Amino acid sequence: MMRVADLHVDVLCKMLEYPDASWSGAIADARFDVNPERLRAGGVGLQVFALYLPDEIPSDPESIFRAAELFWSEVLTVRGIKLVRRAGDIEAAIQEGKIGAILSLEGADGLQGKLWALRLLHKLGLRLLGPTWNHANWACDGALEPRGAGFTKAGRQLVTECENLGILLDVSHLSDRGFWELADRAKRPFFASHSNARSIKDNPRNLTDEQIEAIVSAEGIIGVTFVPWFVTSREPATIDDVLRHVEHICSLGGAGHIAFGSDFDGISRHVQGLEHPGRYPDLIEALLKRYPESFVEDMAGKNAIRFFTRNLSK
Ligand SMILES: [Zn+2]
Repeated sequence: MMRVADLHVDVLCKMLEYPDASWSGAIADARFDVNPERLRAGGVGLQVFALYLPDEIPSDPESIFRAAELFWSEVLTVRGIKLVRRAGDIEAAIQEGKIGAILSLEGADGLQGKLWALRLLHKLGLRLLGPTWNHANWACDGALEPRGAGFTKAGRQLVTECENLGILLDVSHLSDRGFWELADRAKRPFFASHSNARSIKDNPRNLTDEQIEAIVSAEGIIGVTFVPWFVTSREPATIDDVLRHVEHICSLGGAGHIAFGSDFDGISRHVQGLEHPGRYPDLIEALLKRYPESFVEDMAGKNAIRFFTRNLSK
């Protein structure tokens, strides 16, 4: 089975929303798209778990640490899931036949500018961070903020602190101005965990051609996302519609910089045939009909594994 890496799921957010739900129980809870069995069935070898605070939960460090605790108590206690903190942990997980789990923060809102909280989260395994969700926060403006501003002074300090700690920066939800400020300032490769091509589907959450080229030239990576409304305006969105984004990113030189960024458990509707990680084999089959096997292996997992192995600290 082809090894899959996925740059974004919102399982932890659902755990916060449904405290009674069991993620890893013997009987799968239907409210989750992602569960351990589906990850295994899909051939997932590396999974990023995003820590995103839903609206109904206070946006503060306490909520962030509650979610991080769920990552430890619900995800990392599953047999066959292994925490990835360092580059070598990825290869070790592969050797042991385990699923490597990387912790990410989606939106720095809840940090409230407190860099001590960031440093403590890093000790708890945080290795990726998107400065914003869709709105403005203390660090930067998000993709749907009409003002469209870039980073604040505190936000620039956040970027610097992340780079010092070895936390990689995710541009997926940034405003365009925030994207370019980060691209200018970043000393390390950055990435887009779950965004598509804006010239295929016009949406501020998708990347312009220039942004795609900037990520490619920074040796970054782009997780093509399965959010139907970032894929196409047509209903229902299909795997073929997803492949149009793949084709476009490749036409801009992105073949070595493309991956999956599902957004499972962060969406209420799904691309037809891509409802959960157990469907990856169908997506891979569709890719194999169009592309050589080596490209499909790269996109499914190897590009992401290479990116994290190069850029996480040794
Ligand atoms: Zn998101």
